Amino acid sequence: MERWEKMKRYLVKPGQKINLSEWDPDEKSAWQDSKKEAKIEFSNINNKLEEYQELLYAEQKHKILIVLQAMDTGGKDGVIRAVFDGVNPAGVRVASFKVPTSEELSHDYLWRIHKQTPGKGEMVIFNRSHYEDVLVVRVHNLVSKETWENRFSHINNFEKLLSDEGTTILKFFLHISKDEQKERLQERLDIPEKQWKFSAGDLKERLLWDEYQKAFEDVLTKTSTKYAPWYIIPANRNWYRNWLISSIIVDTLKSLKMKFPQPEQNLSEIKID
Ligand code: AMP
Ligand code: MG
Repeated sequence: MERWEKMKRYLVKPGQKINLSEWDPDEKSAWQDSKKEAKIEFSNINNKLEEYQELLYAEQKHKILIVLQAMDTGGKDGVIRAVFDGVNPAGVRVASFKVPTSEELSHDYLWRIHKQTPGKGEMVIFNRSHYEDVLVVRVHNLVSKETWENRFSHINNFEKLLSDEGTTILKFFLHISKDEQKERLQERLDIPEKQWKFSAGDLKERLLWDEYQKAFEDVLTKTSTKYAPWYIIPANRNWYRNWLISSIIVDTLKSLKMKFPQPEQNLSEIKID
């Protein structure tokens, strides 16, 4: 089976009703061989990503937006470190969205997001995104139900705008289990190099696990479109998660059929003294 065929099982079809309990965070069926071989394959794909990103940057035509969302400890930082390892920093940018500042809050919730979207030739990775405005904001009742419910259609329209204007959008939900989160939080307590990541707030959020899962289910059900699809990535295993995300990005970049631009003039006629 072609790799692309195997990837399709993780794609949320437009309108598909998502029940996350039916999606196994340990699933790894697209990779039949050993973890060791997956790591070799991952490094090959990583080289491909570097090549395509160079083309993207040279061609100055396409814009790539990659959205990462997950429960706490879901692995967003790990994906950014591993998947984008080696790309040219001149053409790739990470935008991390934290609790909005008072200036950001005084505008509509897409204001700070739109400013960070990619320009031509650029690849931007959203570490959290406008989806926080229908996730944390919903779970903590920071706005009324009517307000967050209206946001699904704003978001679809916003992403349609970006897509119509030449942005290729890929959205990844890193799906971990509640047990896996417990282990990862425990590591943040136990391992000195990870302690900086521990936040007491994460324990409070963990108590709201079911509410977050439900909010994610709505996001996945209502905002996966042809022009901005969601992929549900089984993320209990880091190697599988990294391999899968890299593969989807590389196959998408390949489908853009990018080319290096033609030189301005006939280079063979130029003589350097
Ligand atoms: P971290 O990504 O671990 O640095 O944490 C960023 C924090 O900002 C998380 O707790 C998010 O839930 C929070 N955050 C991000 N966007 C929003 C938003 N639009 N409204 C409220 N909180 C947000
Ligand atoms: Mg955090």
